[in-house]
Amino acid sequence: SLAIVWLRRDLRLADNPALHAACAAHERVLPVYIHAPQEEGEWAPGAASRWWLHHSLAALESSLHGHHSTLHLRAGDSLGELAALIRATGAAAVYWNRLYEPAAIARDTRIKQALREQGVAAHSFNAALWREPWQIATKTGDPYRVFTPYWRNLRTLIDEGEPLPVPQPLRGATAEGGVSLESLELLPRIRWDAGMAAAWTPGERGAQELLELFADDAVADYAEGRDIPSRHGTSRLSPHLHFGEISPRQAQAGLRALLAKRGGKRPDVEPFLRELGWREFAHHLMFHFPETHTANFNPKFDGFPWAADDEALIERWQRGRTGIPLVDAGMRELWHTGWMHNRVRMVVASFFTKNLRQHWHHGARWFWDTLVDADLPNNSLGWQWVAGCGADAAPYFRVFNPVSQSQKFDAKGEYLARWLPELANAVPALRHEPWKDPSLLRKSGYPAPMVDLGESRAAALEAFQAVKS
Ligand code: FAD
Repeated sequence: SLAIVWLRRDLRLADNPALHAACAAHERVLPVYIHAPQEEGEWAPGAASRWWLHHSLAALESSLHGHHSTLHLRAGDSLGELAALIRATGAAAVYWNRLYEPAAIARDTRIKQALREQGVAAHSFNAALWREPWQIATKTGDPYRVFTPYWRNLRTLIDEGEPLPVPQPLRGATAEGGVSLESLELLPRIRWDAGMAAAWTPGERGAQELLELFADDAVADYAEGRDIPSRHGTSRLSPHLHFGEISPRQAQAGLRALLAKRGGKRPDVEPFLRELGWREFAHHLMFHFPETHTANFNPKFDGFPWAADDEALIERWQRGRTGIPLVDAGMRELWHTGWMHNRVRMVVASFFTKNLRQHWHHGARWFWDTLVDADLPNNSLGWQWVAGCGADAAPYFRVFNPVSQSQKFDAKGEYLARWLPELANAVPALRHEPWKDPSLLRKSGYPAPMVDLGESRAAALEAFQAVKS
């Protein structure tokens, strides 16, 4: 019999439970991707994500070819396209790996029901998480709202077993009626993607290369190195994890295997696993509190006096023209590469929600469009954490000071020099505070600060009084 494997954000052949199960149970297997952004509600992929998706699908197609199989592409309504394929191929079953965003859960539940009513078996699996959101609860059976006890529990539940191999053989089937990758029009019409193309290799192989790079170098010093934005001190696996080109289980087992092969002193991988734990925690929260992609996790913030939406202000932040060097460097890194270092994400988000007092929704939306790793659970958690309205959030009154942050984490101003060519020739001390030398601003064209950091901080704390009680 023939089975359809409906691929979504699990764009890999190894450690893919749906693909594995389909190959084990059927003579022929048809891997299918259906482009249906309209089904993701208000969170259809942004421009940077679409760029990634194009290249990831191309990479998957090429690996499938290597295994005498092909990727069948379709576009339209997922259920309609699946139904048409079932009619055309006589497929007996559809296999997929689960997603956890509210719109995806609603759609998949509806599709599972409809397939079963048509007498077609529908099998779904976990490919994205160590533990699915409903497989972990507090002692009283409730969802977690605080990370540390969540992680303490999750850490004891992680299966340290080997990931699944690429199924051999892949039993590739073909079908009529597919569309070409180009016809999905995922790439930008105006080619602004050179920076992203230079920074990334989307696909399963690209993920493995980054894991090797991380094992060779950054993991040894990760606990400290992860805070230094001028270094490659983190894994940069986030877009690969988002698109399912690598699973947390593969990252964990792969890292251990690579470190064992290298020999010598084994670095501690726990701090890295803990960050993957944050990703799981974000999925846990999004599943149990599905409205929090837009609603404040802490409802007290519903009455927070945000400043009026100010397009001009927001645009200066987006373009990296605020006059605050670490903020501008981060925003330009984002625009150029589709990624921003975690510490800098916290700083730009704090500046946006506190010094500019613009609603976190507008910042989260910009990230959504420009990040190659844009991920609804992680992005919502990140913005709400910084804004102070999230689960287990930084207290609102903790306003990041972007000057002391860059002095501390980019002491030599290397990250600033990389992204702010206007300041690259200034001495490091002035890169952090260029306004101290008005002639530097005049000569370089770098803007003066758009707000006074001290005054805007005081105003933010004042506004916070409204929700404090
Ligand atoms: P590493 O340090 O190598 O960590 C490994 C993996 O753990 C990451 O790839 C990621 O999947 C996960 N992880 C690490 N830190 C976090 C975290 N704080 N929260 C959740 N998961 C984490 N991450 C996204 O993947 N997508 C987003 O849309 C996103 N938006 C963010 C918005 C804000 C305002 C903030 C403060 C953080 C956001 N993050 C987001 C979290 C974090 O910044 C990135 O996951 C991280 O920078 C990715 O780099 P890396 O892969 O090198 O991380």
